[in-house]
Amino acid sequence: MAIDLGTANTVVYLRDRGIVLNEPSVVAIETLNGVQRVRAVGAEAKLMMGKTPDGIRAIRPMRDGVIADIDVAEQMIKHFIDKVHGGPSRLPRRPEIAICIPSGATPVERRAIRQAAENAGARIVHLIEEPMAAAIGAGLPVTEPIGAMVVDIGGGTTEVAVLSLRGLAYSTSARVGGDRMDDAIASYIRRKHNLMIGESTAERVKLEIGMASTDQARDDVVMSVKGRDLVAGYPKEVEVSQMEIAGSLADLVGQVVETVLGALEKTEPELAADIYDQGIVMTGGGSLLRGIDMVLARATGLPVMVAEDALICVARGAGRALEDPVYRGVMTSV
Ligand code: ADP
Ligand code: MG
Repeated sequence: MAIDLGTANTVVYLRDRGIVLNEPSVVAIETLNGVQRVRAVGAEAKLMMGKTPDGIRAIRPMRDGVIADIDVAEQMIKHFIDKVHGGPSRLPRRPEIAICIPSGATPVERRAIRQAAENAGARIVHLIEEPMAAAIGAGLPVTEPIGAMVVDIGGGTTEVAVLSLRGLAYSTSARVGGDRMDDAIASYIRRKHNLMIGESTAERVKLEIGMASTDQARDDVVMSVKGRDLVAGYPKEVEVSQMEIAGSLADLVGQVVETVLGALEKTEPELAADIYDQGIVMTGGGSLLRGIDMVLARATGLPVMVAEDALICVARGAGRALEDPVYRGVMTSV
């Protein structure tokens, strides 16, 4: 079993079965008479975000690319493992698990994730750096002495890595991703239209009409957005255009570009030469923002390709690393 424990989504791959689970990394915790219990996990918990009554909190334990809440993370891992095994009533099979971790995770965080997976029922736990799993999932030649660059834009972070010969030659991570895009959209709509909208609504705007650059955005692609009027306080609906949304995302897209340019500057010349030939591969949900590949291609002068199945590429790569002996060396047991 391989688990991509993402800041936004958790994806589980099972040998011979492929991707068997893909759900938001969200847990709803209920507190009753001072006792906490899990009320919902995954898609069901995400639906509650921004709508929970007193006594229930929807938590994203991985939120910013680090573990914000290890106990909740452990409950979430356990819930998902049980779910793919057909519920907790079935005999636990104590699976061997590969878990993807952000390359910026500290040794303490790595140990915490390993411990959480063991507590959740894993027999053997392998850790694999997320960019490595992404690269394998995207079919890059990571076992050969050929440099390759992966840019993974997730919910909380953007990870940029240069890989060669089963290892990370260089990696960096920036706290910019889909969540901050949602925030930028919400704060733009608040400022410009005096409308307060929730996180989930902001994300829907991004998915429906989001665009990485104003050059390609259109004024006549519009969407109506509902929320609470900032001044009057009652529910209201406004219309926003793709051009406006692209404008509100420009700054963050610029930060992604800066992170990639910084990584290219630090890449060894021989590897840089390979990247010049091979280009850059993008993975993660953020790579699906319209036009972001074009923006990156223009800024770097390199070919940029969005991996097929960008949202599940990491889990699939981790699964392959576990199955195929060729990749064994890419996982760590620390
Ligand atoms: P993580 O690995 O951190 O869990 P994912 O790779 O699953 O993150 O990506 C989730 C992020 O991608 C979310 O912020 C989501 O809104 C965003 N996303 C998904 N699809 C799209 C899309 N088509 N356009 C823009 N953003 C998208
Ligand atoms: Mg990810």
